[in-house]
Amino acid sequence: MSINKDYDVIIIGAGPGGIFAAYELTKIKASLRIAVFEAGNMLSKRKCPIDGVKIKKCIGCQNCSIMSGFGGAGAFSDGKYNITNDFGGTLYEYIGKKEALDLMHYVDAINLSHGGEGTKLYSTADTSIKKACMQNKLKLLDASVRHLGTDINYVVLENLYNELSEKVDFFFLTPVREIELADGGYSIKTDDKTYTCSKCIVSVGRSGSKWMESVCAKLDIPTKSNRVDIGVRVELPAALFSHLTDELYESKIVYRTEKYEDRVRTFCMNPYGSVVAENTGGIVTVNGHSFEDPARRTQNTNFALLVSKHFSEPFKDSNGYGESIARLSNMLGGGVIVQRFGDLIKGRRSTKTRIEEGFVTPTLSAEPGDLSLVLPGRILDGIIEMIYALDKIAPGTANDDTLLYGVEVKFYNMEVSVNERLESKYEGLYIIGDGSGVTHSLSHASASGVFTARDIASRI
Ligand SMILES: Cc1cc2nc3c(=O)[nH]c(=O)nc-3n(C[C@H](O)[C@H](O)[C@H](O)COP(=O)(O)OP(=O)(O)OC[C@H]3O[C@@H](n4cnc5c(N)ncnc54)[C@H](O)[C@@H]3O)c2cc1C
Repeated sequence: MSINKDYDVIIIGAGPGGIFAAYELTKIKASLRIAVFEAGNMLSKRKCPIDGVKIKKCIGCQNCSIMSGFGGAGAFSDGKYNITNDFGGTLYEYIGKKEALDLMHYVDAINLSHGGEGTKLYSTADTSIKKACMQNKLKLLDASVRHLGTDINYVVLENLYNELSEKVDFFFLTPVREIELADGGYSIKTDDKTYTCSKCIVSVGRSGSKWMESVCAKLDIPTKSNRVDIGVRVELPAALFSHLTDELYESKIVYRTEKYEDRVRTFCMNPYGSVVAENTGGIVTVNGHSFEDPARRTQNTNFALLVSKHFSEPFKDSNGYGESIARLSNMLGGGVIVQRFGDLIKGRRSTKTRIEEGFVTPTLSAEPGDLSLVLPGRILDGIIEMIYALDKIAPGTANDDTLLYGVEVKFYNMEVSVNERLESKYEGLYIIGDGSGVTHSLSHASASGVFTARDIASRI
């Protein structure tokens, strides 16, 4: 332990990765001096200005309350903790499949003991839906899913914060500007002060991706371009999907398109949920969430249908490609565009009247338009094919009134070169969570935090 440093460990970013790293460090080495620097606000002060009345659409706040602050991008999420190595990241490639799963179960137990008790754990084991999928050229991925719901997820975060704030120094609204090597440790520069530490955990998530790139460039840490997922969010009457969502809550289903053999997949399924707009660095895309509390449920289920694109040579900027498509949609629709499936198939734009006359009431106020003017044909064709395939296991999916919101883009951080300890080429500088490109989910990001904390505790 270094007494000449301000802190033993500095954690940058208070998303699930940073929170679970702090939690585990305080559990196993209570004597450590730990600080967490977070660009966003504390949980209780995180407020998205969209109220549905005065402000209906994203106004592009500089510091997006949905993406930043205590709880990270996951704070107002649906709180679906997928316990699986099949999706949500490639943590297992670094630490092994068993260790990764054990850590995800450990995180689940912490969530339960901090307000999540009583929430349901869904599983794909022994489901007949798997066979129905196979019979229709679809593949259901294996997973257990703890659904906390947006409301309980918030309670868990509140409880974790109350516990941690007694043992850890939190600096909110304090983005870290630079990390420098200093005297066997690191110096962490904020706008008005510099702090030193022996070990540093960087867990800046998706919203910190540009900054992460600059840190890697400056410290000469190798990176690789990652993929981008592009598609739409589908919204339909919850009853059409209830046989899937009642049993599995979230079904991750994959389809291979006939012509291009692209993989289209369902993502982030929200039974009885709402579609929401999301702002990443001024680009408005679409997402969804749902509540555990039955009183806050809607009549609709929503989920994304996404196609992955990965560019390598000569064009490497997968995220830039996704951004351009999102910008095009923002240019045409002023934000998110909504279109009835029937209008898309008939080759016409949706209008306010056509949406109002439809049987599905949108849960997000979006601009009626034409997604075929936004999405590349190859991607849109794949999505249409998959909607027809889903119609076979959930009849009604391909109804004219099914709503498609666009665009949904899942940006992935470039993959940072880290070793099997999730440590960069510099000893004691760990890069974890979604910011490392290794994880893409609540459970994997949280597990990476616990893993790193244990590694540090064993070495410090
Ligand atoms: C609307 C929504 C719904 C989602 N739903 C789910 C779901 O149901 N299940 C699931 O598995 N995943 C879901 N996700 C994804 C999930 O939230 C992320 O995978 C997860 O939060 C990643 O955790 P993280 O700690 O790596 O990063 P983040 O949660 O992004 O946290 C990073 C934190 O670092 C801060 N930061 C960034 N740069 C700096 C800096 N320079 N200095 C200081 N702080 C900085 C940010 O403000 C942020 O708070 C959802 C995401 C969104 C946006």
